[in-house]
Amino acid sequence: MTLTEITAAIQSIKTGIKIVRGFNELKSEFEIKSATSELLNAIIDVQNNLLSIQSSYQVLLDSKNEIEKELDNFKNWETIKLNHNLKQVAPGVFVYVRKESQESYDNQYWLCANCFSNQKFSIFQSRIPGNVEDFICHSCKAKISLPSKNNPSKINRGGSWMSS
Ligand SMILES: [Zn+2]
Repeated sequence: MTLTEITAAIQSIKTGIKIVRGFNELKSEFEIKSATSELLNAIIDVQNNLLSIQSSYQVLLDSKNEIEKELDNFKNWETIKLNHNLKQVAPGVFVYVRKESQESYDNQYWLCANCFSNQKFSIFQSRIPGNVEDFICHSCKAKISLPSKNNPSKINRGGSWMSS
């Protein structure tokens, strides 16, 4: 679309140049008035085409920024994916955990597997502060309940639900 507008603008400029070059040969006032009016039209055409190009350019620029943002998000998500593993924290209860989470208790969190599959980073939170049995994903409202012996602090202290 922009290419057509550029071609049209160039064409109008050529027309304008031709009119100006022919000015010396104009004899009557009528011919001069007519050529002036033609020149004005050519200039208006150029202006309209440039405005159109400007707006098309803005659309392209917005779209380029949007694509770059999506690409960044995609790259970030790829990094998140690489750093997390699916883990069964109780029979039939799956969450994503950080691969190195066993090393640092402070950073341990469970990611909602449902949100994770939609490329969304959402951490399971205690439904009641201090309660380590019921968790909710505030993003998709998924809930998980664990038998009390399976709570994350106990898992982290070395006794996973499988071995205990
Ligand atoms: Zn969720």
